[in-house]
Amino acid sequence: MDFELNEEQRLIQETARRFALKEIAPIAAEYDREEKYPAEVCLKAAEIGLVGPTIPEEYGGAGYGFLEQALITEELCRVDLGVGQCVEARSFGSQLIHFYGSEEQKQKWLPPLVTGEMVAAGAFSEPDAGTDVAAARTKAVREGDEFVITGNKMFITNGTVCDYYLVFAITEPEEAGRYARHSTIIVEADRPGVSANKIHGKMGIRASDTAEVSFEQVRVPVANLVGEAGRGFHQLMHFFDVTRTAVAAEGVGLAQGALDLALRYTQERIAFGKPLIANQGLQFQLAEMATRIELSRLACYKAAWAIDQGKLDPKLNAMAKYYAGETAVWVADKALQMHGGYGYIDEYDIQRFYRHAKILEIYEGAKEAEKITIARRLT
Ligand SMILES: Cc1cc2nc3c(=O)[nH]c(=O)nc-3n(C[C@H](O)[C@H](O)[C@H](O)COP(=O)(O)OP(=O)(O)OC[C@H]3O[C@@H](n4cnc5c(N)ncnc54)[C@H](O)[C@@H]3O)c2cc1C
Repeated sequence: MDFELNEEQRLIQETARRFALKEIAPIAAEYDREEKYPAEVCLKAAEIGLVGPTIPEEYGGAGYGFLEQALITEELCRVDLGVGQCVEARSFGSQLIHFYGSEEQKQKWLPPLVTGEMVAAGAFSEPDAGTDVAAARTKAVREGDEFVITGNKMFITNGTVCDYYLVFAITEPEEAGRYARHSTIIVEADRPGVSANKIHGKMGIRASDTAEVSFEQVRVPVANLVGEAGRGFHQLMHFFDVTRTAVAAEGVGLAQGALDLALRYTQERIAFGKPLIANQGLQFQLAEMATRIELSRLACYKAAWAIDQGKLDPKLNAMAKYYAGETAVWVADKALQMHGGYGYIDEYDIQRFYRHAKILEIYEGAKEAEKITIARRLT
C-alpha cells in the first residue's frame, strides 16, 4: 500500500480538522460536563459532508471509502472524542442497510442521515449479552405481515436521539442454531412500545447519548427486515469488521490530541529553571508516544484501505482497533502525568482525554474480543 494521501484525501482531512477546531473545540468541555448531545454541531457537520461519508452517492452520500472516513474521524476525535464520536456515529448501524438492505430501504433510510434530518442507532447489546452478542434474547415474532418485537437493549449509542434502530433480534426457531437465529430489523423510534432511557454518569464521552432501550410488543412491517432472516449474526460480524476501523481512527485521533497537549504543556511549563521537555526522560516518553500513535495510524489506514480495495481483513481490523484503543489509553495516561497536578483538574483538557480514552478498549468489541478474532486467524 502507498501510504501517501492523495490531494482529495488531504483536503478531506484539512476540512475535518478545520471543522473540529472551529465547531468542536469551543464546546467540548461544556457538553461533556453537562452531558449535552451536540445536535447543532452534527447538523453543521452534515452540511459539509462529514456525516455518513461512506454512504454511496446514489443515496445522497459522498461515497467516500473507509480510509476517508478514518481521516475524518481521526481529526474530529483529535479535538474531542465525545463530540467527535457523536458526528461519526450519527449513521451508526445504517451500514447494515447499506450492505444488506433492499433498494427501497436504502432509498428511504440512508439519504436523511447524510442531510442530518435523521439519526440511526445500532441496537445489538443487551443487559446479558455484550461480547457474547449471539446470546441476545430480544424476540421478533412473525404475525401475518408484521413482526412483534419484545426485548431490552443496553448501552445503545444515540438511543434517545435516533429516528430508527437496527435491532438484532431472534426470528428463527432454536433448532436453527445459535448463529442462525437472529435477524436485523429496522424499528422506527416512534413506534408504540418503544421506550428509551438515557444512561447518565458515564466516565467519558458524556456528550454522546447512551441509552437503555426497551421494545414492548412493538409492531413493524415484515418489509423492515434487512436482508435474509436468520443471517443477523453474520451480518453483524461483517458490520463490526468494517466499522472497527472507525473506532481505531477514534483512538488514533484521541492519542494524537493527547500528545499535542503534552507537547504544548511540556514546552511551556518551567521546573528546575528549564522547560519540562528539556528532560531527556520526558523526551523518551514523548518519542514512544509518537511512535505508538504512528503504528496505530498505519494499522488503521491499512485496514481501512484494504476494505476499500475489496480485501477486507478481519484480523487486521481487530489489530488496528485493539492497538489504537490501548495506545489511546496509554498515551492519555502519560500525557496527563506530564501535566502534574494541573492535569487532574477540569480547567485543563487532558483529563477529558484520559476519561474518554477507556471506552476505546470496550465498545464495538472489547479488546479481548479483538484478540480472540486475531488469535483465531493466526494458524
Ligand atoms: C458508551 C458505550 C456505548 C455503546 N454503544 C453501543 C451501541 O451503540 N450498540 C450496541 O449494541 N452496544 C453498544 N455498547 C455495548 C458494548 O459494545 C459492550 O459493552 C461491549 O461489547 C462489552 O460487552 P459487555 O459490556 O456486556 O461486557 P461482557 O461481555 O460482560 O464482558 C466483560 C469483560 O469480560 C471480557 N470478556 C468477555 N468474554 C470474554 C472471553 N471469552 N475471553 C476473555 N475475555 C472476555 C470482555 O472483554 C470485557 O472486558 C456500548 C457500550 C458503551 C459503554
